[in-house]
Amino acid sequence: MKVLVLNSGSSSIKYQLFRSEDWVALASGSVSRIGEPEGEIKAEWLDASGIRQSGRARVTIPTHQDGIDRIVKALHETRVLGDVSELAVIGHRVVHGGEHFKHPTIVDDAVAEAIQGVVPLAPLHNPAHLAGIEVARRLFPTVPSVAVFDTAFHQTMPRTAYRYAIPEWLYREHRIRRYGFHGTSHYYVAKRAAAMLDRPLETCNLITLHLGNGSSATAIRDGKSVDTSMGLTPLEGLVMGTRCGDIDPAIHFYLAKNLGLEIDAIEDLLNRQSGLLGICGVNDMREIDRLAEEGNDAAELAIGITAHRIKKYIGAYSAELGRVDAVVFTGGIGENAAEIRCRACEGLENLGIKMDDTANYALEGRGERCISTPESTVQVLVIPTNEELEIAQQALAATSEAPCDGLSETFRVGG
Ligand code: ADP
Repeated sequence: MKVLVLNSGSSSIKYQLFRSEDWVALASGSVSRIGEPEGEIKAEWLDASGIRQSGRARVTIPTHQDGIDRIVKALHETRVLGDVSELAVIGHRVVHGGEHFKHPTIVDDAVAEAIQGVVPLAPLHNPAHLAGIEVARRLFPTVPSVAVFDTAFHQTMPRTAYRYAIPEWLYREHRIRRYGFHGTSHYYVAKRAAAMLDRPLETCNLITLHLGNGSSATAIRDGKSVDTSMGLTPLEGLVMGTRCGDIDPAIHFYLAKNLGLEIDAIEDLLNRQSGLLGICGVNDMREIDRLAEEGNDAAELAIGITAHRIKKYIGAYSAELGRVDAVVFTGGIGENAAEIRCRACEGLENLGIKMDDTANYALEGRGERCISTPESTVQVLVIPTNEELEIAQQALAATSEAPCDGLSETFRVGG
């Protein structure tokens, strides 16, 4: 059987098709610029000989329905999907599940309504996910659609970690609290880390660092998330591509009172003009690395602030966990930016972290690897994330009674 994973954004849909027998990715791609005069479809697929092929085309894609139609047509034309009956399930990424969704969930009308109910907490993301889910349910009424939530893994946090020190009624009446995001990625790399450590996930204490355009840190005790750096929204925590992460909340009042900025302008400033972009004018870490090597001071500062913030979270979460078995780097920056990893872990020998610089900076062996010395009591691991695979496996497991291979007791799927 095959599993289709859809990640529907407001103007784009990313997809990946897996064969569930061996979890090989048969095809992946995206449709983008939905609703604009000219859209684009990009596709990669394995041909009959198992050789990776790719193609792209410019087409008009007026709606999400047209986008998903295009994706299915591309899957048929490239022969990776024969008939729709080959599809066991469609897994949908959903950013926000609020407090309601603790597990991947088969979408029916009531579930769709509940996801709609969380829209105020994720106004940019959830409506787009719902659009994709509704189209998939309409086009493929016989194939279950399963929502896999970015927030679900963090629902095990204790209230001391998820509550903010603001008036209680804001939580009681408006559910303002820390939710955390990137849960699918943190859970995936935690499972892989447990496999590398050769112990059950339920016995592992980990600090997982997902560092991409959006970045977050998670403290994992006995395989469960007990704290995470993103909060009510994905704006809190680490320095990101264009998001500020942690700042003094009084900066908002200052900007409003002294610079006369409206609330929408402040939101845009902190979400889209801050982070790496705000510090040095560039949000691509590869470019920032290059600029820093050329002596650009703002680029050097961007790397410095980013690493400093990561180090603070490693320290805080070490204190929270008491014992740490491994620190895990993942995401585009975590997997590739050796300088960030080096600076974030520098001087943490007192926490049991001792980096192996040769392994950290090695250009070979880009896959899962250990970059700490044998004496390091905390292993430092680099683990490429694979959120789509995790969504596919969780979606399939949600359609059967028993959890599928690799899903731990601590994060059991279903209902
Ligand atoms: P997203 O959050 O959009 O999924 P990614 O996980 O792909 O983002 O991460 C994107 C970030 O990773 C960018 O800042 C990019 O510059 C950085 N990155 C990717 N490859 C490298 C590399 N080889 N060296 C340094 N940074 C890299």
